[in-house]
Amino acid sequence: MKESEWPIALFDLDDTLCDYGGAMFESLEKLRSPKEPKTRLYGNGEQIPYYLEQRMNLIRREEDWWVNLPKLQLGWNILKVAKKLDFKIIILSKGPRRNPVAYSGKKKWIDKNLGYDTDVILTQDKGLVYGRVLVDDFPPYIESWLKHRPRGLVIMSANKRNKNFVHPQVIRYDGTNIEEVWSAMKKARFR
Ligand SMILES: [Mg+2]
Repeated sequence: MKESEWPIALFDLDDTLCDYGGAMFESLEKLRSPKEPKTRLYGNGEQIPYYLEQRMNLIRREEDWWVNLPKLQLGWNILKVAKKLDFKIIILSKGPRRNPVAYSGKKKWIDKNLGYDTDVILTQDKGLVYGRVLVDDFPPYIESWLKHRPRGLVIMSANKRNKNFVHPQVIRYDGTNIEEVWSAMKKARFR
């Protein structure tokens, strides 16, 4: 099989291949006045206070902030499996609606960490994009992708926000179950 015909594995960036959550937490801590409550992680659907939302927008408007996001090992472990199994790797990331700087920063992060030749799709709706496997951490994107893919496989990089998400086509990878990830991806690859 030619490389161009390999099945596609889609990889998310934020909180999958890069530590968006950790970096955001650190940046918010730097901007916190000593009188303010300590920065904490907000769960899915939880209302983030307006002033914090504004600070996050300011942080996200700096291109270098995106370029310098640290790698997240969980996602790289899954990437290694996908490469060994000869999946075609495509980066599938959300492009913030009103922030073109983030598009540019994300592309530069990919160039720096994965190489210029990496295929990239930045979109508002991950459900539009075809792949045999999706690697992502965020349940709403996972659900929208699975909606039209009864055989699709999702590997979900674990974090606090997705700890209660369970779905028959989703394997939650927390760093301890790489064999499970390997065998499910192998089955998907050669079906
Ligand atoms: Mg993500």
